[in-house]
Amino acid sequence: MPDTIFTKIINREIPADIQYEDDDVIAFNDIEPQAPVHILIIPKKPIATINDANDEDAELLGKILLAAKKIAKDKNIAEGGYRLVINTNKDAQQTVFHIHCHLLAGRKFKWPPG
Ligand code: 5GP
Repeated sequence: MPDTIFTKIINREIPADIQYEDDDVIAFNDIEPQAPVHILIIPKKPIATINDANDEDAELLGKILLAAKKIAKDKNIAEGGYRLVINTNKDAQQTVFHIHCHLLAGRKFKWPPG
């Protein structure tokens, strides 16, 4: 897949406000936050969409959710609650084609989402 802006963040070619990092996953504040807490959790391996993930990515996808759990605990939002969102392709308004999980918190969310 072609490089995205997120590859540049992983490679420190452009700045980001990094909130969490380990060998497989990195998380940083969204540049256009939609809630008081809005963090993007991404795999370092570039995978364009969930449609492109394979069985071999199962552990990596799990690590994204476990990173979300850790971040939520660190930010003291675990008990109050938070929303995890993975937009996929155009109907969901995915704009960056490198899998990312939005972690949103700090306000009350509506359901169903818009
Ligand atoms: P999507 O719509 O693909 O689910 O979400 C992409 C997200 O990436 C958007 O919320 C957008 O604000 C964020 N984003 C796009 N470019 C950048 C950037 O250069 N830095 C950061 N930190 N976030 C970005």
